[in-house]
Amino acid sequence: MSASRRGADWLVQDTSPADVFTPERLSEEHRLIAKTAAEFVTNEVAPALAELEKKNWTVARHLVARAGELGLIGVDVPEDVGGIGLDKAAAVIVGEAVGEAASFATTFGAQTGLAIIPILCFGTPAQQQQYLPRIVSGELIGAYCLSESGSGSDALAAHAKAVKQADGSWLLNGEKMWITNGGFADIFIVFAKVDGEHFSAFVVERGFPGVANGKEEHKMGLHGSSTTPVVLQDAKVPADNLLGEIGKGHKIAFNVLNYGRFKLAAMCTGGARGTIGEATQYALGRRQFGQPIATFGAIRHKLAEMSIRLYAVESMLFRTTGLIDQMIAAKPSEAPGGAQEGRVVAAALEEFALEASVLKVASSEMVDFVVDENVQIHGGNGFVADYPAERRYRDARVNRIFEGTNEINRLLIPGILIKRGTKGGLPLIAAAKAVRDELMTVAPPDVAGTGVLEAETRVAAALRKTVLVAVGLAMETWGESLQQEQEALMSLSDLMIEAFSAESATLRAAHLVASSSPAATLHVDAATVICHDAGLRAEAIARTLLGSMLTGDAQRTSLAGLRRVLKVPPSNTVAARRRIADAITAKRGYPFSQ
Ligand SMILES: Cc1cc2nc3c(=O)[nH]c(=O)nc-3n(C[C@H](O)[C@H](O)[C@H](O)COP(=O)(O)OP(=O)(O)OC[C@H]3O[C@@H](n4cnc5c(N)ncnc54)[C@H](O)[C@@H]3O)c2cc1C
Repeated sequence: MSASRRGADWLVQDTSPADVFTPERLSEEHRLIAKTAAEFVTNEVAPALAELEKKNWTVARHLVARAGELGLIGVDVPEDVGGIGLDKAAAVIVGEAVGEAASFATTFGAQTGLAIIPILCFGTPAQQQQYLPRIVSGELIGAYCLSESGSGSDALAAHAKAVKQADGSWLLNGEKMWITNGGFADIFIVFAKVDGEHFSAFVVERGFPGVANGKEEHKMGLHGSSTTPVVLQDAKVPADNLLGEIGKGHKIAFNVLNYGRFKLAAMCTGGARGTIGEATQYALGRRQFGQPIATFGAIRHKLAEMSIRLYAVESMLFRTTGLIDQMIAAKPSEAPGGAQEGRVVAAALEEFALEASVLKVASSEMVDFVVDENVQIHGGNGFVADYPAERRYRDARVNRIFEGTNEINRLLIPGILIKRGTKGGLPLIAAAKAVRDELMTVAPPDVAGTGVLEAETRVAAALRKTVLVAVGLAMETWGESLQQEQEALMSLSDLMIEAFSAESATLRAAHLVASSSPAATLHVDAATVICHDAGLRAEAIARTLLGSMLTGDAQRTSLAGLRRVLKVPPSNTVAARRRIADAITAKRGYPFSQ
């Protein structure tokens, strides 16, 4: 692979298939970890699910400890603080495996992302040595206390307060809401405002005076995961347990969210893969009108579409993972180990914050589609608790709410892009202008050839151009007040998701074609459907967006130019989906797994 890339630069710079990380490029070591994680989930987590759903937190604690013993919690944590010291790709494949058991995945996610990352990235060496080895081993259970009843999305408006005492310690007061692992965690990363003003973070132990959790919430799903309020009543926290700097808690909160969003995507892809397997098995076994329902075109279309949408998200996820790992590897590690590596990781996560938000939105919406179609394929059996389809449906819904709601993430995506374009060195304005000039010239139509993936590569490039022209126009039309134009920001995000998804899928398929993989034709089918449909959806989004910005001749000319650029060539996507459905039924599950 070539030198490391910057966040969001895929929009303004071409990418070679050879430079894109994909699931097919996982190493033997990665595959072994995936196997260990999958066996742990199948043999130990799945049989314990009923106990977890009864809120038997002793079992949850035991499973976390087992995950620690197997090295799964600290797979990407530096060795000197108890981890295995592997890359983020290893963490993604563990996340995917654990994602098959959504309740446990939530417990596990709070442990690995929400408790470890703040201490690893922002803790002092002493705090790291004090807490990380025991969290990584699963001896201590972690939780992350940011939300309050009055401040969820607007997390920085928290009311929890910290006041410094004469002896240097802190007195914390406040109530945190919806805290994952709240019922049995030992360590809480708590956000509170010093003197009611300066947003800061603290490592709080359950054993400190004044720390308690409230009752378990009665949730729609994730019944096997603990969610409680955490109450701090004159909680006495030692001076050394301030995490990072006073007033810089937002940096910790946002970086943790970047990691959480990226990891959530892995959990969603893992969950979707298991669901597709389950839907396929059911469709093959269930007979109606004298034949398995898996032979009906309507059901085959569903199975294919579920797999295609997963393929798109998986392609974006592994591409982003490769980018993050490349950036981490490229940093000179002056002092390898916890403190230094933590800061490098935080910087890489921040660099790819836009991609993390894209992944969060796309993966949570993909898995919701997949679990919904799974219920539909199960018919009446999908609606009753005897089959796992019902639980999967309920469990998936929260993914669109936590780690920043999808609306908040959709607001963030164009915001990050524009910031990079105006202050961060990304040549966004020049690229947008170049595309605008192209739209205004009556050039001969840019027709793709008929070679493998030529049309898809062209559509993916056209989608990037569509984003550029839309962002450029939006900046010109609304200037600073663009941040108030939420409908436009949602549309810009949707365009970016379509563009990143189409290009990532095409690059992945192109890599398989280039390496003469026997699976390449199926990957090409997936990329064809993804690009075709993304192009059509993007045209509708762009029309609505341009219609809200321009009038008269300017609107007509821009729309005509856009149509020229974004011309989606006709394609037999029905036949492509049928071939994918054949592969799904032959494999009895998601056909792109290794
Ligand atoms: C099962 C579960 C586990 C959780 N675990 C944790 C945890 O471990 N730690 C933790 O700190 N929190 C946790 N949370 C809390 C979660 O992060 C919040 O619920 C989430 O951030 C949304 O906040 P809210 O519920 O207050 O919704 P609100 O912020 O009130 O949002 C309500 C609606 O308004 C929209 N909205 C809000 N602001 C805007 C805006 N500016 N523009 C447009 N739309 C907007 C939202 O998108 C949403 O659709 C958990 C929640 C659940 C359900």
